[in-house]
Amino acid sequence: MNRAVIVICDSLRADLITPRDAPFLTELAGRSARFANHSSVFPSTTRTSAASIATGCLPARHGLLGNTMALDEGEGLVCLSVGRPDFRDRLHRATGRTLQAPSLAERLACAGATAVAISNVSPGAAYFLDPDGFGWVYHAAGSYGPGRRPLPADEGLAIEKGEAGDRLATERFCEEVLRRRAPALALLWLSEPDYTGHHAPLGSPAHRAAIASADANVRRVAETVAALDPQGERILFIVGSDHGMETVDETIDLDALLVEAGLKRAAGSSDVVVAPNGTAALLYFGDPAGALVGKVARFLDDQAWLGRAFVGDALAEAGLPTGTALQIALTLKPDERENPHGVSGHSHIVRDSLEPKDCTGFGQHGGLGRNEQRPFLFLSGGGFIAGTHTSRSSLVDIAPTILRHLGLEATEMDGRPLPRRP
Ligand SMILES: [Zn+2]
Repeated sequence: MNRAVIVICDSLRADLITPRDAPFLTELAGRSARFANHSSVFPSTTRTSAASIATGCLPARHGLLGNTMALDEGEGLVCLSVGRPDFRDRLHRATGRTLQAPSLAERLACAGATAVAISNVSPGAAYFLDPDGFGWVYHAAGSYGPGRRPLPADEGLAIEKGEAGDRLATERFCEEVLRRRAPALALLWLSEPDYTGHHAPLGSPAHRAAIASADANVRRVAETVAALDPQGERILFIVGSDHGMETVDETIDLDALLVEAGLKRAAGSSDVVVAPNGTAALLYFGDPAGALVGKVARFLDDQAWLGRAFVGDALAEAGLPTGTALQIALTLKPDERENPHGVSGHSHIVRDSLEPKDCTGFGQHGGLGRNEQRPFLFLSGGGFIAGTHTSRSSLVDIAPTILRHLGLEATEMDGRPLPRRP
């Protein structure tokens, strides 16, 4: 059977792939099909992106709406972090399901093929690659085999986010997964340069070193793929990122503003619940058909920091579901000013009471800003011809492209298989 290998360099912006910081990716771009008009989903968060890569569907169809989401577990809506290890089980208990669309792992299992994922980002982003346990998912917070069977500690993945952990994950991916186990689909999700980008200015020496570490790890995987398939016929090799980043310039405390304006009863109230997603936010309403939705929408319209709000049926334009407790999604206003390291793009963020730290001057994402919506995507092998594609592509196109290469049907997906020739 054909095989697909995918590496995600979390948060690596297409324009930050330079010969100086990412010599291997620069070279790989030249001998790959490079999708230059590639975009993330909305919200452009890692967990939502992971679900969209895994299912080929927009959030409206797979249902994982952000890094945080409001859930009603019986006592009204509450904002929860999707990243925590227990969120998958809480979502399942509250709604009866995990993702609302099948993952690649499930589609492969139905065809008798295997998927293996190694992820060094949040547990939630790892587990939503295969939330119902059809293949193998390795993560430091717990690793699972088929049937969501917890793996013993000595088979798990004892690593930390950052360069050292990514390097260990890459070694194991190459030696154990690619060479020995040889599954139909193997996915490696690196924490860099996202991990450092959230704690250091974009383009700073630390951030550039994080890009270089991702570059070195991709090189190692590419060399392994080349050794296993020198002609590039059987293995489709996909390297990309899930989104980019903007520099944070101001933090908006949306909960406090709504309470002050008399539109929310109290910080923890369930009448309107803000789910902060970096440079975006989702607003859930206890009464989705009530007058409060319109009042909050009018309030938002008057705010100088608002980029755009999607209200009610307009949520569909942003790839989000309609007719649920989620009634408003907003992206904050970005601008193209450069930071002190010459990296363009700033945005406000919405304060996250689950992670209340000051991120001013560091990288963030979640919204529809130009730079956070600027992931990269290179494909080689499997019939892809080197060259630059300028037609639009999206994260949701990756899954159907993999299925086509594996000879499997891609039904009920938002994405389309990517063209092999420019
Ligand atoms: Zn990410």
